[in-house]
Amino acid sequence: MSVAIDPRVAAFIDSQHGLLIDGHSQPALSGAQMPVFNPATGEELTRVAAAAAADVDLAVAAARRAFCGSWAAQRPADRERLLLKLADLLEANGEHLAQLETLNNGQSIHLARALEVGAAAEFTRYMAGWATKIEGKSLDVSIAAVPGAKYRAYTVPEPVGVVGAIVPWNFPLLMAIWKIVPALACGCTVVLKPADETPLTALRLGQLCLEAGIPEGVVNVVTGTGAVAGAALAGHPGIDKVAFTGSTQIGKVIGHAAVDNMTRFSLELGGKSPVIVLDDCSPEVAAAGAAGAIFFNQGQVCTAGSRLYIQRAIFDQVLERLATIAGGLNIGPGLDEQAQINPLISAKQQKRVLGMIERGVAEGARVVCGGVAHGEQGFYVRPTVLTDVTADMQVVREEIFGPVVVATPFDSLDEVVELANDNQYGLGASIWSNDLAKVMALIPRIKAGTVWVNTHNMLDPSMPFGGYKQSGIGREMGHAAIEAYTENKSVCIAY
Ligand code: ADP
Repeated sequence: MSVAIDPRVAAFIDSQHGLLIDGHSQPALSGAQMPVFNPATGEELTRVAAAAAADVDLAVAAARRAFCGSWAAQRPADRERLLLKLADLLEANGEHLAQLETLNNGQSIHLARALEVGAAAEFTRYMAGWATKIEGKSLDVSIAAVPGAKYRAYTVPEPVGVVGAIVPWNFPLLMAIWKIVPALACGCTVVLKPADETPLTALRLGQLCLEAGIPEGVVNVVTGTGAVAGAALAGHPGIDKVAFTGSTQIGKVIGHAAVDNMTRFSLELGGKSPVIVLDDCSPEVAAAGAAGAIFFNQGQVCTAGSRLYIQRAIFDQVLERLATIAGGLNIGPGLDEQAQINPLISAKQQKRVLGMIERGVAEGARVVCGGVAHGEQGFYVRPTVLTDVTADMQVVREEIFGPVVVATPFDSLDEVVELANDNQYGLGASIWSNDLAKVMALIPRIKAGTVWVNTHNMLDPSMPFGGYKQSGIGREMGHAAIEAYTENKSVCIAY
């Protein structure tokens, strides 16, 4: 059954979408706009303002004024209360936000409700609590100096300043919240640049921040392309920190731009996460786990379990069950409550994913199931399982960001450690087994920012999240998020 679009969601989509600067919606100075599409139909949904460097200048200036003015005047308890109010508003507007996200991003309405809204509200409440718990240390120093002089030293975490947040299209609202909320909890202000493809929930979030009572200019939203608006923000000398989630390729560009200005930065980048199945595991459990790890949000997840390593004794059984699950998934629009596989974000992404499958096949991979597009309309790719792959193939090495998993057998634990770590990325990994000794031996040997056991893709606001190797620099969530948005000042007092 297809969810009926709420008239208020339709009205929002049809409204004028300006840039949110200093609490006001305004067109781009050039008047430029860009289209936004519905991935389930390929049709244009609406148009939004396309910011250029001059618009970004205005947004950064507004964020600076707010940082030094209205926001600096708020006590930690005020910031906490405002963020708690924002969480309430996310929930109160939850169904609208979820429908909007599904229309713009293509993802399942269930996922939009549970993650983009539900997890975002939980995350907001968790981070709101940190606002009143940011503390420094009192240091017992041993400075050898003038006889009789005494010193007392302590540290003060101070808000880093104006944050440029650049987020991707795979979980547009949640990713925006992951950046904005800890930044605000720490006393920073933000200029948010949503992905080119998915600006709508970010704009609505900007409105909700104002509705919550967060002062004008604290959260600014500049829609536009990455190449123009994103680049202008990342390289802006007026920002103090860039918080980026996206591809490794663009993350490097952003890191370079940030270093040129000595802007602080954190990068949450790509992944090619291994799923390691040991042979004590039931093939049913392993296949269901592997399917969830890769097909969740059509594999458009930076931690997607896209490399599946199965111990040889159960390889055929797991593969067969995985193919059965993949072949049986309902494919349809995100608004269809029965649909389990939804469209990819864009025609470009669909073409890229299909191209990578084709290249894999040309290099010798065998398609166990899927491997092709689905339907006449919308950007669907059938859930795909490839096997007979070798470690040098592009499908094994590179992030596909689609519903495509490569399955490989292994014999020993040493072998699977080598296979799992033989990749430029190191974001997530999962181990499927109840053999505690083997699991505990594997965990420290896997080079990944998060290791799951008998689960995959599970994140919590309390768990630091980020990558080893080319998967990024820095951590989000937990106390790590507070460190990411504060400078540590040392104070030394002689008395
Ligand atoms: P994807 O390939 O998944 O779209 P990207 O890394 O290209 O991932 O995009 C992630 C975010 O980075 C988006 O908001 C995008 O607009 C932005 N972006 C893309 N190119 C640049 C750039 N050169 N400078 C700054 N931001 C960019």
